[in-house]
Amino acid sequence: MSILIVGTVAFDAIETPFGKTDKIIGGAATYICLSSSFFTKNLNLVSVVGEDFPNSAIEMLKNHNVCIKGLQIKKGEKTFFWSGRYHNDMNTRDTLDTQLNVLESFNPVVPEEYKECNFLMLGNLMPLVQKKVLDQMKKRPKLIVLDTMNFWMDNFLEDLLDSLKEVDVLTINDEEARQLSGEYSLVKAAKVILEMGPKYLIIKKGEHGALLFNDKEVFFAPALPLEDVFDPTGAGDSFAGGFIGYLEKTDDISFENMKRAVIHGSAMASFCVEKFGTKKLEELTDEDVEKRLQEFVDLVQFDISLV
Ligand code: AMP
Repeated sequence: MSILIVGTVAFDAIETPFGKTDKIIGGAATYICLSSSFFTKNLNLVSVVGEDFPNSAIEMLKNHNVCIKGLQIKKGEKTFFWSGRYHNDMNTRDTLDTQLNVLESFNPVVPEEYKECNFLMLGNLMPLVQKKVLDQMKKRPKLIVLDTMNFWMDNFLEDLLDSLKEVDVLTINDEEARQLSGEYSLVKAAKVILEMGPKYLIIKKGEHGALLFNDKEVFFAPALPLEDVFDPTGAGDSFAGGFIGYLEKTDDISFENMKRAVIHGSAMASFCVEKFGTKKLEELTDEDVEKRLQEFVDLVQFDISLV
C-alpha cells in the first residue's frame, strides 16, 4: 500500500490582508505530501525543481517520510514560481505571476518501485504531465484522484478533458466547477462534470466547506469556523492530502469512507490556513490532528428525533 503524488514543488510569494512573503516554499505536491504524512508513511513524490531549490526543503519532505527518488533536480534551471494576492474575504485571489520555468520541459519519470502504487494523487500540474504519470503505472491504481485549477482549464482544456475520462475522483473549487461545466448551480455542475468521467466529484468552497458527489448521493462537510485565517494558499492541496492519506490508511474507497476522508481533508485544510505557507503543517503533531478531528465531530453532531 502506498501513494504516488505528482504535482508542483514550488516557490510562492503571497500577499494577504495580514502580510506579505518573499519567496517561500510551496507547490501543490509539497502541501499534499505534508498533509498525507499524518496518515501514512508510504509517500512517493514525482516532481521537478531547479538548482535554486534549497536542500533544507528537500530534507523537510524526507523528514515527513516522503521518498524523493522521483524528484528531478534540473541543473542550471529555475524552480516553478507562483505569486498570488488574496482579497479581503480570503476566499478569492488573483494570480499575480506564474513562471513555469522547469515545468516547461518537465518529462516525469516514475521510478520502477512506484509503478504499482495503489493510490495515485495527480496534484495540480499540467494535464499532460498528469497523464504521462498515469500512463507509466504498471497496473491501474485502486484509486486515482485528480486536482486541477482554472489556469489549466484556460490553457489546456482538451488535455484536461482527456485525463478526466480516466480518474475516479476530481477535486476542484466552486468557481472552477462552474467554469468547467458552464453551470452556475453546483448540483447541475456536478451532474455535467460526472458525465465527463470521474465517478466522484469534490467541490471545495473555502470557508463554506466541501461537497462530495457521486451520481446518486451528496455529502457536505463544513469548514471549521476559525477566528483567523492567515493564508489560504495550499488549503485545497492539504485537503487532497488528508483525503487520500486517510483512504490509503484505511484501504476502503466506499462512499461512506470517502465521507470520513472528506472530514480528514477538511481538518488538514483548517490547519494549513492558520500560518503562512507550509509553516503550520510542518510543525503539526499527531495529537493536534486528533484534537482537530474531534472538533469536527463536535461541530456537526446533533440529535434530532423524527416523528
Ligand atoms: P491551492 O491554494 O490549494 O490552490 O494551492 C496553491 C499552491 O499551488 C501554491 O503553492 C502554488 O505553488 C501552486 N500553484 C499555483 N498555480 C499553479 C499551477 N498553475 N499549477 C500547479 N500548481 C500551482
